[in-house]
Amino acid sequence: MQSNDILLTDQDRLVLSVVRDFVEREIMPVRQQIDDDKDHVVVRGILRGLSGLGLMRAGLPQEHGGMTAGGSGASNVTTCLVLEEISRADCGIAVAASVTTWALMPAVTAGNETVLKLMGEMFGGGELRLGCFAMTEPASGCDIENLAVLHGRPIQTRAVLDGDEWVINGVKRFPSNAGVADIYCTVCQTDPSLGEEGIALIYVPSPWEGLSFGKFESKAGMQADRNCDIYFDNVRVPRQYRAAGPGDDARLMKRNLALGRVASAAIAVGNSRGAFERVLDYTGSRVVQGRPIRQHSMCAGMLADMAIGIETARAYYLQTAYMLDRPHEYGDADCDIMLSRASLAKVYACDVAVMVANRAMELMGSYGYMREFDVEKYWRDGKEIQLWLGGAQLARLDVARGYYEL
Ligand SMILES: Cc1cc2nc3c(=O)[nH]c(=O)nc-3n(C[C@H](O)[C@H](O)[C@H](O)COP(=O)(O)OP(=O)(O)OC[C@H]3O[C@@H](n4cnc5c(N)ncnc54)[C@H](O)[C@@H]3O)c2cc1C
Repeated sequence: MQSNDILLTDQDRLVLSVVRDFVEREIMPVRQQIDDDKDHVVVRGILRGLSGLGLMRAGLPQEHGGMTAGGSGASNVTTCLVLEEISRADCGIAVAASVTTWALMPAVTAGNETVLKLMGEMFGGGELRLGCFAMTEPASGCDIENLAVLHGRPIQTRAVLDGDEWVINGVKRFPSNAGVADIYCTVCQTDPSLGEEGIALIYVPSPWEGLSFGKFESKAGMQADRNCDIYFDNVRVPRQYRAAGPGDDARLMKRNLALGRVASAAIAVGNSRGAFERVLDYTGSRVVQGRPIRQHSMCAGMLADMAIGIETARAYYLQTAYMLDRPHEYGDADCDIMLSRASLAKVYACDVAVMVANRAMELMGSYGYMREFDVEKYWRDGKEIQLWLGGAQLARLDVARGYYEL
């Protein structure tokens, strides 16, 4: 690929080269095994390696075992570039790692010392630790995320204060790392009539009394990321485990929607690059009508469209991540305009990911459909990125909301 590296610092380049080496050495050679890795032996080995590089605690401040002094962990630009690089090999691995940081982020941003101390102890040792941001429920996914119109009223997971403890009851569906995470940032509602003031992000460590899980979902792809129902049956945690408080938790949730969407854009670009690199290679040696496939002008045009999509999606998500790193100049992550930009980055990068994997498969003929040629994996995984975090439609509505009231 050409590279638009103008926004990268020397530190970004260093982190990227370490991650790229890891990806080439540890993930690329086994990417075909991940879909069959039912017991997650291969997956946990890879995640342990990434954890050893400090990835799972990259979101924590240094005082609590993380990577950066004082602030709120790694920059969005660095995080996104790392996710893109991992997703070149396997999106599910990128999701399992990034959702961990995503789950920690509300407490980090709020500066919740009780939860940060808990996380520091949990993530500071040598063990592999994972986090989960549990928002989606059986009755609604997008409606919960549609804060602009529904203000968190559809959230059915209830949190009631009883003395010094929150008592949580409800069910969450599909969250990444469900059933395998060590800590759950749970999106609750204290009272639907309060709307956003009633949204409460409450941390629940695992194992914990009253917390249980359903069976793992059987998915089309992305097997490195586990999803299942999470049951909260009179789960009691200290009141300090709430990320911040009324109103602030809704802003932290909206912030996580923006960060999650720009990270999804990076994952989608990584998926596209993986498919593009594979098809570029294949079409350079497979001959039709006397010439390599990519030397035929019709096919060159298809490859050019893929490159145009990938490069522009990358440029836009990097610009958005750069802006998210500078809230004083461009606005906080929870403002409508930044949610609009992050949603635009996701919508476009996902459309590109679906288009690239589709065309890559066409250019490889029936070989593209065969597992050993890798492209069908990018084809399955790219589609899923489009479906989560509000799907293609709600994310588009959030784009429009950056331009006018809707
Ligand atoms: C692999 C994977 C990982 C996931 N990870 C997480 C996670 O970490 N945490 C978590 O909480 N959840 C997670 N999810 C769940 C996911 O985010 C939701 O499934 C998603 O937000 C959509 O919700 P839904 O499936 O209930 O669709 P629905 O809400 O039923 O929406 C269905 C369709 O309606 C469209 N739509 C929605 N609202 C509107 C509207 N107002 N106007 C027009 N169209 C609309 C949507 O775009 C979509 O096309 C994950 C799911 C998967 C499969």
